[in-house]
Amino acid sequence: MNKEKSETKVMKHPPWKDVGITDPRTRLKSLSDHASNVEIDRNIRPHRYYRSGVEMIRMADMYMKENGLEYAYFLYVKFITIFVEKIRSHPQHHTVPIKDKEQNQETLRKVIPKAEELKKQLLEQYQVELNKYLADVKERERIEKERLKQEELEKLKEEEERKNKQAALAAVKAAKAAMSTILSSPEENKLKVVPSLPKSLSLDKAAVSADISKGKKMPTIDRSTKPSMLMSDSFTLRDVVLPTKLMRNFLLLAFANTANNKETCGILAGKLERNKLVVTHLLIPEQTGSPDSCLTHNEEDIFDYQDQHNLITLGWIHTHPTQTAFLSSVDLHTHCSYQLMMAEAIAIVCAPKYDETGLFILTPEYGLDFIANCRETGFHPHPTEPPLYTKAKHCKLDVNAALEVVDLRRK
Ligand SMILES: [Zn+2]
Ligand SMILES: [Zn+2]
Repeated sequence: MNKEKSETKVMKHPPWKDVGITDPRTRLKSLSDHASNVEIDRNIRPHRYYRSGVEMIRMADMYMKENGLEYAYFLYVKFITIFVEKIRSHPQHHTVPIKDKEQNQETLRKVIPKAEELKKQLLEQYQVELNKYLADVKERERIEKERLKQEELEKLKEEEERKNKQAALAAVKAAKAAMSTILSSPEENKLKVVPSLPKSLSLDKAAVSADISKGKKMPTIDRSTKPSMLMSDSFTLRDVVLPTKLMRNFLLLAFANTANNKETCGILAGKLERNKLVVTHLLIPEQTGSPDSCLTHNEEDIFDYQDQHNLITLGWIHTHPTQTAFLSSVDLHTHCSYQLMMAEAIAIVCAPKYDETGLFILTPEYGLDFIANCRETGFHPHPTEPPLYTKAKHCKLDVNAALEVVDLRRK
């Protein structure tokens, strides 16, 4: 499957989170600075940017519904930056169909006021978070003060007890001395009664010091504890939920091609639901397959379908009729365009001959950038270490999830 390298690092990760809880304007500025930090790559045809823009706004709208205001704002600002400031500098900008440009202008007219409104909401939200954070800090300081005060009181109490015990020991000694004097005096010899010492006074030094050291044990306080809202902010890939039947259904409709040693490919599309990406549709584009490649045609059909059904692209799937489940160099480049658009996008490879299925992503910290910057085309060698791709651990199979299969191939 050959697709151009894609454009923008739309959902890569939210580095503005590094800022943490600070004054609202600084936080918002950090967020929009990161969103507008986008470069136009002249190697990518401008109509790809326009396509990516459509999905960007679709995703942002999904975030708005889920109350993911920061993500929505991030995408709106990115969209505005690309289409108000940057895209015109593309040397091929004039080749974009008027229809796409008009649609884009219409979207801009809606998005700009939306972003303004979101900005106000976010500033308010940040202020609330800052106030809560400061209150938490104050409260923790108060608790710490209280604890120190308590500790001081306990120390005093222990000191008091220690003194009492010493005094008691001294009293015992004095009593013993007095007793021996009494016993040694001949007139008192008849007196055989020795007063037994009260138990509480029969203390030795070791026991006293052990008690003190026990009392000194400091209560442990974890000073790394942060307010919970900071904890939940660290970025991880969102789950991608896949219907279990996806692979089986795909292999069934690829059956004839597989028998003829031809690859088949499909697009995984879906939606955002409770911050999970759910694959709901398998779209099969018009295509030509060979033993080791698959070329899609009439991508507009796929786009139209996705637009009508409000679907975002979550990855792709293809067969290896005679080989094992791995990503070839061409597959890596194809997948790069998906993963640049959506950090969680996955590549599924079905290898029926080996009864293997692989769910892969480019390693986000290395492979993604490496492939995005590789200018080779066709099958070509890549270094194998460190690994360019890995198993997609963020995929969750769901036996109950529904799947709609849309076959757009002309029979
Ligand atoms: Zn392949
Ligand atoms: Zn390459």
